Amino acid sequence: MKKAKTEYDFIVVGSGIGGLVSSVLLAMEGHSVLVLEKNHQVGGSLQVFSRDKVIFDTGVHYIGSLDEGETLHSIFKYLGIIDDLKMKRLDDDCFDMIRLPDGSTFKHGQGYSNFKEGLLEKFPKEEKAIDLYLAKMQSICKEFPLYNLEVEDGFSYIDKPELMSESAFGFITSITENKILQSVLLGNGLLYAGETKTTPLYVLALIMNSYLKGSYRMENGGSQIAKLLTKRLHSLGGKVMKRQEVVRANYQEKRIISVETKSGETFFAQNFISNMHPRITTQVFGIENFRPAYRTRLNKLKNTVSSFMLYLSFHENSFPYLNYNMYAYSQNEVWNTVKYDESHWPQALFICTSAVKNQGEFAESLSAMAYMDYKEVEQWSSTFNTVANSGNRGEEYAKFKREKEEQVIEKLEEIFPDIRKSIKGIYCSTPLTYKDYIGTEDGSLYGIKKDCNNIMHSKINTKTRVPNLFLTGQNLVFHGVLGATIGALVNSFNFIEDKYLIEKINKAK
Ligand SMILES: Cc1cc2nc3c(=O)[nH]c(=O)nc-3n(C[C@H](O)[C@H](O)[C@H](O)COP(=O)(O)OP(=O)(O)OC[C@H]3O[C@@H](n4cnc5c(N)ncnc54)[C@H](O)[C@@H]3O)c2cc1C
Repeated sequence: MKKAKTEYDFIVVGSGIGGLVSSVLLAMEGHSVLVLEKNHQVGGSLQVFSRDKVIFDTGVHYIGSLDEGETLHSIFKYLGIIDDLKMKRLDDDCFDMIRLPDGSTFKHGQGYSNFKEGLLEKFPKEEKAIDLYLAKMQSICKEFPLYNLEVEDGFSYIDKPELMSESAFGFITSITENKILQSVLLGNGLLYAGETKTTPLYVLALIMNSYLKGSYRMENGGSQIAKLLTKRLHSLGGKVMKRQEVVRANYQEKRIISVETKSGETFFAQNFISNMHPRITTQVFGIENFRPAYRTRLNKLKNTVSSFMLYLSFHENSFPYLNYNMYAYSQNEVWNTVKYDESHWPQALFICTSAVKNQGEFAESLSAMAYMDYKEVEQWSSTFNTVANSGNRGEEYAKFKREKEEQVIEKLEEIFPDIRKSIKGIYCSTPLTYKDYIGTEDGSLYGIKKDCNNIMHSKINTKTRVPNLFLTGQNLVFHGVLGATIGALVNSFNFIEDKYLIEKINKAK
């Protein structure tokens, strides 16, 4: 007798944090779920790689909202992974350090009162501005009920134009004329690719608030989150298949019945959830199945800039472990670094040492991230290279990488004069690396750019015109581990009643 083909309740395309959280939420409600991932490793931007016996994070270096009782901690607890996560809390009085061109440094402390105290030490005359800043952060975050694990009828923050259209730069420059304080308050803008003309204030507020509420590094890498979610999914009867790139979908009466992968296999389901960028989703699921107006709107969406990442492994016991991140600038206008001047690149660097189990006083490695426009690597765009699908980008590209690595190391030497003596190995990734591994068009850091001048561009619905195709991931609500997790909650409300789910999450706290 011919064996009946397996049909799942859900197929999720992509195993980024959004795809995995959506899958576990559905499996916890008894649905059968299959995740198809194109890479050899699950996790999307949570992936790690190893060189010189050191593990490097590729896309997640620290995560906020992880103190007990805070939103991400509570969701991870509900999902059943929090107890197994190995995390290192960053310093209370300094989780982020802002370094300005003259070498002066400023601390961001965890918690609203630590944050205020740290700033007051350096800006004693600016208490009013600091209070205004903190009050505004808190009032904005109240407008996002899900971020506080509350349900608002209709989840309607997106319908509040006055909230969406306030500019972050405009607000910061309105509360103080002190240019240094302005730079310090905008100083970790690499977390959301902050730009003076476009970044909405709510973006800054949600990000800052989450890091003030518990900033942690994942010991030995963020991939543990993806691995734990995968394990949890398996324990609930779900399945994750790696090296399965979805290339097309088959339809019957306008509904998707199956997807095909590059390896030639076909998988059937009732519903499909895409963790891919919405524009890529329409290409993979057949552009002709989406209304022209939807396609036009998606085509207009701009992505955030991409990045270059330098990874250094160190000789044993040679470089101190820093239990904070550093944002180092070579110009005072910290938000004018996204559209950078190539001759002075890198003008802004995010720097962190990774944490390992039983972290001692020395670091095994350091990562430094700079903005990099996709156009810098566009000439090699026809090449492809991942572990699952290896290729060679050629000598010129290798030369380009060596030059860029050297430029970043020279900047690092301005901050850590002896760093070169500690270096054992030098590695890097470019916008092409992110493009190939994540499957975006341009290796964008955080997906679709939020623009306070064009708030409709921030509105991506989890539902699509195809009745059984839904979206999850960083492009829906917000980027980051917290943002994509909240996006997965919103996605799940298509299938699980919102009040019921939020109540269950709150009960599990
Ligand atoms: C350099 C960098 C630094 C960052 N730093 C931080 C940080 O410190 N803290 C933080 O919270 N956030 C950080 N972020 C942001 C955060 O990593 C992302 O917002 C988040 O991980 C995105 O999750 P996602 O669910 O959208 O999925 P993604 O991570 O985008 O994953 C999508 C998945 O879909 C898969 N896929 C794509 N196409 C197909 C296909 N056709 N078939 C099958 N599978 C497919 C991809 O392989 C991938 O696994 C950083 C991002 C980057 C790039």
